[in-house]
Parts: sequence; C-alpha cells; structure tokens
Amino acid sequence: MNDKETLMDDIVNLCKRRGFIFPSSEIYGGYNGFFDYGPLGVELKNNIKKAWWQDMVHRRDDIVGLDSTIIHHPMTWKASGHVDNFTDPLVDCRESKMRYRADQLFFAPVVVAGEKIGYVSVLEDGDMQEKAEEAARDLKRRLAKQGELAPIVLKDYTEAKPDEYALIPSPATGKPGSLTPPRAFNMMFQTYVGALRDETAIAYLRPETAQGIFINYKNIIDTGRVKIPFGIAQIGKAFRNEINPRNFIFRSREFEQMEIEYFISPKADWKKIHQEWIEYCMNWFDGIGIPKSRLSLYQHPKEKLAHYSKGTTDIMFEYPFGVQELQGIAARGNFDLTQHQTVSGKSMEYFDDREPNKDDRKYIPHVIEPSFGVDRIVLAVLTAAYAEEEVEGEKRVVLRLHPRLAPYKAAVFPLVKNKPELVERAENLYRRLKRRWNVFYDAAGAIGRRYRRQDEIGTPFGITVDFDTLEKDGKVTLRDRDSLQQIRITEDELVAYLSEKIDG
Ligand code: ATP
Repeated sequence: MNDKETLMDDIVNLCKRRGFIFPSSEIYGGYNGFFDYGPLGVELKNNIKKAWWQDMVHRRDDIVGLDSTIIHHPMTWKASGHVDNFTDPLVDCRESKMRYRADQLFFAPVVVAGEKIGYVSVLEDGDMQEKAEEAARDLKRRLAKQGELAPIVLKDYTEAKPDEYALIPSPATGKPGSLTPPRAFNMMFQTYVGALRDETAIAYLRPETAQGIFINYKNIIDTGRVKIPFGIAQIGKAFRNEINPRNFIFRSREFEQMEIEYFISPKADWKKIHQEWIEYCMNWFDGIGIPKSRLSLYQHPKEKLAHYSKGTTDIMFEYPFGVQELQGIAARGNFDLTQHQTVSGKSMEYFDDREPNKDDRKYIPHVIEPSFGVDRIVLAVLTAAYAEEEVEGEKRVVLRLHPRLAPYKAAVFPLVKNKPELVERAENLYRRLKRRWNVFYDAAGAIGRRYRRQDEIGTPFGITVDFDTLEKDGKVTLRDRDSLQQIRITEDELVAYLSEKIDG
C-alpha cells in the first residue's frame, strides 16, 4: 500500500493519464485553482450529481429542485452579508511576495530550558506538528542551545499578538520579519454587468449556490405545493477567489456545490432535524462508496460560529493530505430570509395552516443547510476507491468505484478480433447495452491487458464474447472488477444483472 503522499500523486497522475481531470489552461502553463474535467472525469462528476439529485430530490417527497443564475442582483450579496463579511484573513510575505491564509499558517514559540529562543512556522498539513518539532530542534541546534525543549504548541496566525508578527518566520524564506499582520480579504470575484464600468455596475460571481435558493423561496412557496418542512435543492458552480488554492481539486477557485435549504418551523426541534440530516448525509456517502469508517464529524465550537448560526457540523473525510471538510451542515436560523425581507422589502413570511396555535401561524422559516462540494466528493470517491494490488503476479491499479458512479458501467470484449462472427456478436451486445448505459468496447490487445485498462478507470464489469458463445451455449463471460470472479451468463440475464447492480 502506498503512503499518503504518494497516494495523492498517484491519484493526480491517474486523473491526468486517463483523462479524468486536467489542470485548466494547461497549454498556457495552467491556471492556479482551476481544473478541467476530461471525458472520464465529467462522467464521474455527472454520475455523482445524478445520484445526489435522484436521492435528495426524486426519491424524497419533501424536496424540490432549482437552477438559479450564477450572477444575482448585487443586493443579494449585500443582504446576505457576503459583501461585508465573506473574507479570509490574508498574510503577505513582503520578501517572497507569497500570500497565505492566516488561519492556515501555524506558529509556535521555541522554548529551551525556560528561555524563548525564537519561533517556528508551518503551513496547515496532516503532519504539521512533526514538521514544527523538527524545525524547533533545528533552531535549537543552530543556536547551540543546551537544555530541554518545551513542547511545541501550535496556534494559527490569527491568534498571534501584534508584537509576535515580526518574530514569526515566513514559511517561504524561513526568516522572521517579512510577514504582515493579517487583513480581511474578500473572496468574491467581481465583474461588471452592462456597458458601464463604474461602481453601480459591479456584480459578483456567486460564492455559494445557497443564496439563489433564498431569493427564490417566495416564488417556490407561491407556485409549488410545498408545505413546511420542505427543502429546495440546487446544483451549480460557485466561485471563490481562494488565497491559497491547494490539494488538487479540494480547494479551487471555481468549483461546484450541491446545496439544500431545508425550511422548518421556528418551533420545530432543529437539533433533532440537524442530527437527522447529519446521519442521512453520512449514509448517503457510505452508499456511494465513501465508507463511514473514513468519515468523522467536526462540530464548530460555539465561539467560532457566526452570530446567527445555531450550530454547524462538518462531515470530515480522511484525505491523503489529512482529515478535512467534505461537507458542512449548518443550522442557520432565519437569518438569510430575514435579511432578504429587510433589504428587499418583500415579505418572506410563511403561512402555516398546519400549526395548531393560531398566533404562531405566520413566521419566517428557519433552515438547516446541508452543503456538499461536488469536487471534494470526487476526490473522496477517488481516494476511497484507489488501490494497487498484485493479481496473477502482476501489479494492477484498480479504482473500486461504485457501479452507480463508474464512468463506464461495463466493457465488452470480443476474445479475438480476427473472427468476424465473434466481433459482430460482441458489437451487437455492445450496442444493445449502450442504449441504456455508458459502456466501452475494446477489441485491441491481450484480454488480460484489456481488463487492466478497465480496472484502472473503475469499470465494474468486463464482458467477453468467446468461441463458446458462438459455438456452444450463447453465454458470455462476466468478470467482476473487485472479486475477479468470472461467471457464464446469457445476454438477457446479463442485462438484468447489470440493471440491478447499476441502477439499484
Ligand atoms: P473551508 O473551510 O474548507 O474553506 P467552508 O467551510 O468555507 O470550507 P462552506 O462555505 O461551508 O465551506 O462551503 C460548503 C462546501 O463547499 C464545503 O463543505 C466544500 O465541500 C465546498 N467548498 C467550499 N470551498 C471550496 C473550494 N474552494 N473548493 C472546492 N470546494 C469547496
């Protein structure tokens, strides 16, 4: 099994080599924080979105869909607080011109025999503690200090005191004196709408899909048959001018979200509904191939919550670079709708005819917001699915993707390519299956090699048409990617089998 760092490299290389994900604008040297999904990547991503829509919208009675614009009226972002508060703390290194997010830059004083001999700094990482301790030992050696090194206690740069800024070394140069104090940096991308280029024409690319839901809430209430509790779901692009995009598609500047605003009565037990959503989402991940054993929960501490937030729990995944947020599930009270009501002057009240107490029938609903990042799911799915193993004395790379998500559901192979009846039979089967699923046809090379090529891109089933198919029983060989078991099966049985495995 590969260690964590090489696992990340292996995944990135596989994505490039087999056409899942490319750095955007690669012929111009790439563009930091932007990625393109190639022929296999777009299938995987679409399958994730399809599975989500099916499970969250179609298979539930209480959620409806929406597709709003990427650019909203700019007042939307004033009301939501994004214009004033959607910021990350930015630190500059004056010497190297590097920029960091202050809450991802960690530092600690180095104390030897009770004396502070300097500071170390590290960037947030799964093994930053070890790296900081190593740097502290190094500093102690360089300054030839004797005595016991006190434990290294890391804090993030937002917690640094003003007199510490000049003492903390820049991660770029290793020397103190060049880091600026943190300052708020707004992450929304700006553009201009219309022919004028002045303040009045400024608009924003949405940094989240959620506000599109809030500003359509009234339309949906007025036109749909929805009754509280109900949800509105939306999938779409979001844009954030991240200071430090990193870890491949985990943190990029253009990404995709799948968000639900689940509207509830202010009298409802929000804690219970919040908890139900957490469990529902964990199970959903487990069901698409991100095992629960690699997920954990992180509850945001009360003092770090936005003032309107009642509670936020993140579902964390064990990525190769550390345990990080895969999804957030926030209880946002009625902050957003109240803000839009105040700023737009339009009532966001709901009339609840099922509420027994007459005086409580009119209210602005509260929300629970499960917010999924599609690209982070793609990366989690790939991380959980990637394996290297030995089969019949040969190394194979295999992506154990859930059949629902696999770009190709099956591959059809004629055993040999120089026997026309056999090739014809295989092509006919391929065309029959292709009417329902995305399947692949491959007649080139040794059969073992053809299997390996499909294993590497996660195709769950290999179907071989051979001489026995023509001459004996009309059956084909079905090979399972994971168990490597092969069974003989008729074409009709095959269609039924695939249907059960793929469509569930
Ligand atoms: P982080 O703390 O990692 O910056 P966040 O808490 O700001 O994330 P939210 O605003 O809660 O993220 O966004 C909801 C979801 O959108 C996240 O759980 C994540 O899956 C996804 N997401 C957020 N920012 C990015 C990004 N820059 N690149 C890819 N996905 C992202």
